[in-house]
Amino acid sequence: MTPLGTEAQPLRVAIVGSGPAGFYVAEKLQKEEDLSIEIDMYDRLPTPFGLVRFGVAPDHEKIKNVTRVFDKISAKPNFRFFGNVDVGAHVSLAELQQYYHQICFATGAQTDRRMGIPGEDLDRSHAATEFVAWYNSHPDYRDCEFDLSSEVERVAVVGVGNVAVDVARMLCRTREELASTDIADHALEAISGSGIKEVYMLGRRGPVQAAFTNPEVKELGEMPGADIEVLLEEVTLDALSQAKLDEGQDKATLKKLEILQGFAGRDDQGKRKKLTIRFLVSPVELIGDEDGKVVAMRIVKNELYESEDGSLRPGATDRYEELPVQLVFRSVGYHGVPLADLPFDERRGIVPNEKGRVIDCDTDVRVEGVYVSGWIKRGPTGVIGTNKPDAGETVAAMLEDVAAGAVLDPLHPEPSSVEKLIAERRPEYVSLEDWRRINDLEVSRGKDQGRPRVKFTSVGEMLADL
Ligand code: NAP
Repeated sequence: MTPLGTEAQPLRVAIVGSGPAGFYVAEKLQKEEDLSIEIDMYDRLPTPFGLVRFGVAPDHEKIKNVTRVFDKISAKPNFRFFGNVDVGAHVSLAELQQYYHQICFATGAQTDRRMGIPGEDLDRSHAATEFVAWYNSHPDYRDCEFDLSSEVERVAVVGVGNVAVDVARMLCRTREELASTDIADHALEAISGSGIKEVYMLGRRGPVQAAFTNPEVKELGEMPGADIEVLLEEVTLDALSQAKLDEGQDKATLKKLEILQGFAGRDDQGKRKKLTIRFLVSPVELIGDEDGKVVAMRIVKNELYESEDGSLRPGATDRYEELPVQLVFRSVGYHGVPLADLPFDERRGIVPNEKGRVIDCDTDVRVEGVYVSGWIKRGPTGVIGTNKPDAGETVAAMLEDVAAGAVLDPLHPEPSSVEKLIAERRPEYVSLEDWRRINDLEVSRGKDQGRPRVKFTSVGEMLADL
């Protein structure tokens, strides 16, 4: 029998999801120069790049330069893109198993976590992830409505991770700052025409435990249109946090504290907006008016205690406050969603796996030939680059399985067969060439306005000129 991974019998791999996790899996596979590997990448949207396109904030253009790496990966021979194809809806896993030796899911974490407090479903209370997708022109979110009218002057962003930082910063940006980015036009108009005066970011633990990274929080103190406020008593460490810090002597955390304590000593410069970062407070209720719209948030002051695993957790005191906010974004983390025909760990929001090999949690038996990488494998943590070593681990498992012969035995391994199937099931699928055309059109729409691109906001628009 011809060995797998040779010119005569290439290893056929499907990667489902075209965000950083999927692309880094492709890159690692392409580096295996001794193996002949053919990669087909699927995405349910016509456009690739996942959260680089729909998550990274418009004013962080440089971060998006990583797409140049992805362009090189997709330009390699034996790489194909099947966009606008929903695996699970247009084609099933069982069908893909007839065409590939290995299938790797890199679909990310597609929903958000909730706060679980009364009033969370009132009008003007939203998931930050929806706001992010809306200002980034995600076609599924373009019709979302966020009240940015003059009635809304104060906004609370719950959580102190990097998504919360993005949302708070975007709300504080001026029209001039946003106008040169690839922000959706609908969001540019709404945010710059809003009556927002104050934005609060709320951390339930202290500054040492804040999830945001240093460059991101530092940038909050450098905004032309917004002053920054931090309460000195909330960034003065409690004994437990101080002891942890002394124990660890972690340079990044010391720097974070220095940045935040620096903010606490600042004078107000009379800018149009103000961003206040609060620590050791938890929302306990959103209060609505007679129309069911948020008009305030009740928060409780927390004190930290040491939990059994040694981490410091927030414990509520009996001290409450009411924040007069009219718009709330919960930014308390993403959560994975189950994928058709695959096992799922509901609590962690991931597909159960061992080093990327999918495991059925009921039987503890592995699902042969099926792998995961990225947030659907490890949960929604880390920055874009974290997906690189993660992909390395998954690909190492895939290659070990190739060497051991533990792969699927597809009936139709030739590339033309699956292309025929997809063309039948989803005639409006988007190839790599099609995506390049969409990209060129978006870039040229942006050129006249001095913007990196003006994105299409609906699938219909994306497909119109193909
Ligand atoms: P995250 O980093 O996990 O932060 C979640 C935040 O929500 C934490 O502050 C957490 O506090 C808080 N939280 C959770 N449950 C809460 C509750 N019930 N009440 C109040 N607060 C609660 O998640 P993320 O901000 O969604 O970001 C996801 C990942 O994407 C992160 O790894 C992030 O670094 C990355 N990202 C990076 C960038 C960038 O590099 N510029 C931009 C965006 C996102 P506790 O710590 O107390 O749980």
